[in-house]
Amino acid sequence: MGIAEHALLSTLQHREPLLWLNPAVAPALRILEELHSEYGIGLQDIEKADRLLRRWSNALTRLFPELADAEGIIESPLLPLEHASTVTGAHLAGRFLIKADHALPVAGSIKARGGIFEVLTHAQALAARAGLFREGDDPLVLLRPDAQAFFAQYSVSVGSTGNLGLSIGVMASALGFRASVHMSSEAKDWKKLRLRNRGVTVIEHSGDYALAVAAGRDQADADPKGYFVDDENSRHLFLGYAVAALRLREQLAAAGIAVNASHPLFVYLPCGVGGAPGGITFGLKHVFGDAVHCFFGEPAASPAMLVRALSGERRRSVYDIGLDNLTEADGLAVGEASELVYQLIRNLFAGEYTVEDKDLFRVVYRLKEATGIQIEPSAAAAFLGIRFFEEAAGRRYLQAATHGAGQATHIFWTTGGSLVPQSEHARFYQHGRDLAAG
Ligand SMILES: *Cc1c(COP(=O)(O)O)cnc(C)c1O
Repeated sequence: MGIAEHALLSTLQHREPLLWLNPAVAPALRILEELHSEYGIGLQDIEKADRLLRRWSNALTRLFPELADAEGIIESPLLPLEHASTVTGAHLAGRFLIKADHALPVAGSIKARGGIFEVLTHAQALAARAGLFREGDDPLVLLRPDAQAFFAQYSVSVGSTGNLGLSIGVMASALGFRASVHMSSEAKDWKKLRLRNRGVTVIEHSGDYALAVAAGRDQADADPKGYFVDDENSRHLFLGYAVAALRLREQLAAAGIAVNASHPLFVYLPCGVGGAPGGITFGLKHVFGDAVHCFFGEPAASPAMLVRALSGERRRSVYDIGLDNLTEADGLAVGEASELVYQLIRNLFAGEYTVEDKDLFRVVYRLKEATGIQIEPSAAAAFLGIRFFEEAAGRRYLQAATHGAGQATHIFWTTGGSLVPQSEHARFYQHGRDLAAG
């Protein structure tokens, strides 16, 4: 069935928040085996990505002293969320946690793991080809002046609504690459400024995210020493994001929280092009199998992954159903999902929900009030899925998943915010407060 006949079409077009349960979700073990044989991607690749990031820990600490306490591992805490209902508005039994990627060091968003992993992979491969790096070397050798001079001949570029540009731009320029970021119209001025201060070239485009990506891709294609991080089609980004699952497994174990058939895990992930939530879902399915239920949240104006899933056709965008892709959630302002990611997760993610901008601001305000945590509007989408489990279809789903026992653990993945300037936070907060009062 195409999207034109879909029962949800008019709800989508009217931008009414909705929950969609993925009818294609299938047993994780079988799907992961199929993906492994069809795409050659699996747990070993995630573990390999984790090893590469760990091997870089000395070098990363040298480049970013803020990582010293964490011994060079870019990771965020898992935090308890007391009184979740004051933030989410939903009154459900269960345990509630925040996976605090808004506080990920170096890049301040979920883009840190994927973006940095891809840049490091590329740098290592280039250096190895030039004889500057051998298997077993500590990547510290790649911080020496000769390596920096070598990388300076090469460029790394990316198209971004903002946060991926920050992650790639900061990492690439720290290694000595010429870095450029193609930014879409939503990108905020402070992100451009921050990048320019790091020596990154920012190219501004008046069009949307897909256009910025296309422009970056064309420019890199024309440069034999150019490398383009393709957010719409990158296995490296996907695998870098997936590493979060291994880390989350450790954190849950350390907190004594079991995840199994009678204690399912519900994870709420804001979704743009799909790479970050998709990679994390892929990783979590390897770790927890059918006991984990991953839901993606998208703005009602930009439900790119949902449109892809419902239409059953490639290259369908939110514009095709009359939406404008205009949202204050700049990290999620994407009209068309990554086809690669869609193919990798179509049978793994539990479902999708859409959110209105005004609710994002309300959550930003309420979370700050309840916990002091400051997130950006995109990240607030994490908290707006759970309320659907109080409605009929969601309630049935939750009851089936918990066998009626209500023993689920819910994780809200706060995907960005710690680098947002205080003046911006104050604006978000005030806007949320006005809306919450009104
Ligand atoms: C990029 C981003 C996401 C979503 O990641 P995608 O890979 O684009 O799906 C979510 N939240 C924030 C804050 C982001 O910057």
